[in-house]
Amino acid sequence: MPPASGLSRLSIKIYKQLLFAMALCSLALLLFCHSSLNKSEINVLTTYSGVDVSGYRKESLFEINEDKEIVLDCAIGTIRAGSTCGLQFDLRGRDGAGSFVNLHNLAFINVYATAENPGIDVNLPLKLTLRSLRQDVEYNDRDPSTTRYQSVRFSPGAVQQLSKDRVTTDQWWVRQFDVPFSAAGTDFSSISHVSVNFAGNVLSAPGRYLLHLHELVFVSYFIAPTFVHTLLSIAWPIIFLFLLGHYLRIKSKEVSRLQALADYDTEFDMLNLHGFKRRYPSSLKQPLTIVNIRLRNFAALQREFSRETVLALINSTFIPFSQGDKSGPVLVKKQDENLLMVMKDCDEAFFATLVSAAQRGVNFPSLGHLRLDVKMGIARGTAGMTIDEVLSQSTIAIDAILDAEPSYKVYEPALKKEYRQARFIEQELRIALQKQAFNIVFMPVYDVVSKRIAGAEVLLRTSHLPLAGFSPEVYITVAEKVGLIRDIDFWVMEQAVQALKSIPESDFTLSVNISSKELMDTRFAEELKRLIEKYQVDASYLCLEITETFFVDVNTMCFESIQALKQLGIRLSLDDFGTGHASLQHLLNMPINELKIDRSFVWTLDDKKSAVIVDAIISIASICKYDVVAEGVETEEQMHKLSGLGCRYFQGYLIARPAPLDALLQTCQSINRKVRTLN
Ligand code: C2E
Ligand code: CA
Ligand code: CA
Repeated sequence: MPPASGLSRLSIKIYKQLLFAMALCSLALLLFCHSSLNKSEINVLTTYSGVDVSGYRKESLFEINEDKEIVLDCAIGTIRAGSTCGLQFDLRGRDGAGSFVNLHNLAFINVYATAENPGIDVNLPLKLTLRSLRQDVEYNDRDPSTTRYQSVRFSPGAVQQLSKDRVTTDQWWVRQFDVPFSAAGTDFSSISHVSVNFAGNVLSAPGRYLLHLHELVFVSYFIAPTFVHTLLSIAWPIIFLFLLGHYLRIKSKEVSRLQALADYDTEFDMLNLHGFKRRYPSSLKQPLTIVNIRLRNFAALQREFSRETVLALINSTFIPFSQGDKSGPVLVKKQDENLLMVMKDCDEAFFATLVSAAQRGVNFPSLGHLRLDVKMGIARGTAGMTIDEVLSQSTIAIDAILDAEPSYKVYEPALKKEYRQARFIEQELRIALQKQAFNIVFMPVYDVVSKRIAGAEVLLRTSHLPLAGFSPEVYITVAEKVGLIRDIDFWVMEQAVQALKSIPESDFTLSVNISSKELMDTRFAEELKRLIEKYQVDASYLCLEITETFFVDVNTMCFESIQALKQLGIRLSLDDFGTGHASLQHLLNMPINELKIDRSFVWTLDDKKSAVIVDAIISIASICKYDVVAEGVETEEQMHKLSGLGCRYFQGYLIARPAPLDALLQTCQSINRKVRTLN
């Protein structure tokens, strides 16, 4: 969960203050409702001093003394079952015309009475009865069944605080008047009479029974504590739930906002991969085409111009395709140099349009005409496939053409095998690099004029068994694709410089193959300079073999790199000449020293076309004063023909196969000895 943002932090602060205020209010309310401030008292003796003894025995006499205490004197002559004697107060006033008293919030009744039977001299139990209006029948003053009877027994002799909960419905009343259950509960909202009398059946013997009523007070609450308790016990959970709901709403809004941010690349102004995967179901319900676009010159453009310029170029190139129709292509940023264009379906012509849009480029007023160098891998997903499968197919398709001619490739199952092999080689290359399981071999170059070995080409070999079955051409191509070539080339370079140091032959040049990717990095020349200084070798006997591909991709940085190498005095050779796309223009502008005729021409010299091309290469080299090396020479006939065309240097199985340094030195010695003998 992301940390609380500004809004939720503010909400939490407000909630805390609100809860604190509520807690204070609740506490104050509780303190108030349990304090004396919340109590109102009705002192029956002082308020209703008109005492009505009706309903009790005629023999009763009562008097009110100066302290407003009432003394009841009952002279009981004959004993009758259930007969009692007591005092009754008509709370509606002396004439019974006033209103009923509402003791709805009654808390307790304070009563203090003493009772005695002078004859027996014991305190007899007493009973306090409340008569109140019955709601279910019409009230009739003379009919006791229209009022309810509720009572509580108490002991005389001390002040008694009788809780209202002790007051219960009189069962004799229920029985006698057949009161329904619904009307038989306690209710103090409309009281007409209160009476205090000797509890039933205590007047068991004739005589005088005295009852002193010292105090009779009803204590009620303004606000019933039970009401406050109920209120608080309902209010708190509601407030809690409300705040929780509110907080969760804010939080979920925040989460959606963060999610939207996480799904979007604001710099590229398009969905990112995360957002793309969330937007589409992981298992496709309908066909979906993914165009995986590799922007090969992204880094170079960014280095030479600026990130903003590249982003503007990307937008101007691709945004027009994703605008307008809502169901049209959606652009997704995968990595800096990798975009996806996702759409329902399209015909193949669309891919060509995309490529030409990139190739057409955009005119930037002060920067000139810039264009994107793209390779596109296309996968057509069908219902039931997962998004990851389609994505992986698009990557496989792009991988197949990274170092090849076409600008786009639609995935086909055969590509998967190649891709798997490339991944296997990549993995094994990493292991081989870690174990340093590489070595170099040498392939001599024969000079037909001086009839001696003029130098050798350094070739990579590995002792790592899983790679043994592959030509270096195969694993070097993989190493170039996955960026491992740098480490390999540096290692070979150092081995070659060390070998050069230990070769006793004079006028002997060692040629090293260098990936064109290496030359795009200006640090390469610096590293080489460091090696030359470290091993104290003459740089003019070091030759770097580069392929034409390098000249096709050439840019300002590469020129700088080449210049730096030339300043070190290193020779440059253009390998596999005739197979690439280097223009003559480039060829003339580049400070190279040597052209190597590709072995494919050497092997097909019988073909007229090949012979013409070789003838042309040799002529160009002669005009430009480049040395010419023919590689892959396997027969005397080939050497003879090439020599006749003007080629001076030869390399191939005819002279020697690639071999370790000592074998190279032996070849040199035996050939050079022959020359000396001939001379
Ligand atoms: P390349 O630079 O064109 O190297 C010449 C390849 O042709 C070598 O294959 C060599 O063994 C082969 N060859 C030369 N003469 C003959 C011949 O008369 N007959 C036949 N059948 N083959 C001949 P290899 O060693 O398999 O190298 C293949 C490619 O791998 C090289 O092509 C080069 O592009 C690359 N490579 C080799 N070593 C290195 C290295 O150290 N660094 C880099 N970057 N690339 C290398
Ligand atoms: Ca080579
Ligand atoms: Ca070659």
